[in-house]
Amino acid sequence: MHFSTRSYRNLFEGLDVQVPLLDGSQRTYINLDNAASTPAMLAVRHTVDDFLIYYSSVHRGTGFKSQISTLAYEQARQTVLRFVGANPDEYVCIFGKNTTEAVNKLARRCLITPQRNIVLISLMEHHSNDLPWRNVAEVVRVRVNPDGSLDEADFDLKLEKYASRLALVAVSGASNVTGMISPIYRLAEKVHAAGVQIAVDCAQLAPHRSINMGALDDPTHLDYVMLSGHKMYAPFGTGALIGRRDTFAQGEPDMRGGGEIEIVTVNQVVWSEPPERDEAGSPNTVGAIALAAAIRQLEKVGMDNVATHEASLTEYTLRGLRKIKGIHVYGNPDPAGAAGRLGVIPIEVDGLSHFLAASILGYEFGIGVRHGCFCAHPYLLNLMGVSDDDAGRVREDMLRKDRRQVPGLVRISFGLYNEVEEIDALLEALEKIITGQYSGKYHQDKASGEFWPEDWKINLSDYSFMRSI
Ligand code: PMP
Repeated sequence: MHFSTRSYRNLFEGLDVQVPLLDGSQRTYINLDNAASTPAMLAVRHTVDDFLIYYSSVHRGTGFKSQISTLAYEQARQTVLRFVGANPDEYVCIFGKNTTEAVNKLARRCLITPQRNIVLISLMEHHSNDLPWRNVAEVVRVRVNPDGSLDEADFDLKLEKYASRLALVAVSGASNVTGMISPIYRLAEKVHAAGVQIAVDCAQLAPHRSINMGALDDPTHLDYVMLSGHKMYAPFGTGALIGRRDTFAQGEPDMRGGGEIEIVTVNQVVWSEPPERDEAGSPNTVGAIALAAAIRQLEKVGMDNVATHEASLTEYTLRGLRKIKGIHVYGNPDPAGAAGRLGVIPIEVDGLSHFLAASILGYEFGIGVRHGCFCAHPYLLNLMGVSDDDAGRVREDMLRKDRRQVPGLVRISFGLYNEVEEIDALLEALEKIITGQYSGKYHQDKASGEFWPEDWKINLSDYSFMRSI
């Protein structure tokens, strides 16, 4: 295959940082945990730096800085709307902390009635797009296929079966465990034909693929999209819920306070129009500006180029993993499928717990990955084929504060800045780990399950920011 030779490293902060290894040496850190959080883009830092001298209160401040801050905050909304292809006449962008907050808000704000009180989700969901629905509705889950993708036949069946009682369909655009992408526009068309609305958790999709919410009269439109800035190179605490203006123009906000009202008397409240109605309190202006700056940079690169580069890394990795005896790839291990999924690859290292494999990668090779169940317990247990009995035993252990046997995988996940050389380093490290070529003496902590090497200590005084906080 033709591997992407483009490098996007110069667009990012902190990629050359050296980190200490267990043997006392140093190595340039390799971050393969982008599905959790991504490093900051330089454009984000520069935009925030440029803005901070003007930073002031937004909305209703009359001073010049307030005016500039308000204009910047409102422009950030427009940038987010444009990025997800949403028409500002029909959709609003509500800023909040992250995807979790966005889903919780939607769960409290979308219309769930006694007649329509079921929310159709899938087994693939992150807990953030599962638990909030349990509070407000009956949840029905679409099954997944053995490769972790959404079982569309089951989706069709359940959509038809529950259509008249569905309040909403809420599915993930892409899995944070397997990188499987769901056919969201095709699902949207079916959902709308059934007279229902669709919300898509785009926490994973947004940094890696273009999104087009479309127009409300297009049957493939998306009614709601949720995303997180810290997963798309803007770690300043802002995410967004983009959704139908008509939904947020009705009803009461889920949180009450300043900034979202027209008139208040001691016994009367008139709420603001959307999106202000759903942004109680002073907003995170800097976070919104950071998110918009990351979006602008992603747009400059081009989401097609993002997808091409990351597919190439994914294909390269899957080919490499195939050659290592003792590595089992979950989800879709086929390198030929790389273009149709995200660069999120869950693996198991034969004979080694996920706790230990991830620790060795970190302490001895300077490679950051994530391991465990990735906040998607039902999906992961299904993927790994863990029986109900075994899962029950593990739950009992956990209740006794013993996590040593918790099942899980090691997850490799790419960002735009990752490069083939980093994957070579990962593959070499895995080869070594599998053949026992690591030197640390690790002890497993019962309560957390984590493995800690003997003689490891982080010298906090080496880090100047630690003295400032
Ligand atoms: N959904 C998916 C698919 C995710 O991957 C994540 C984060 N791992 C979330 C929701 C929650 O995002 P956040 O922690 O930013 O709220």
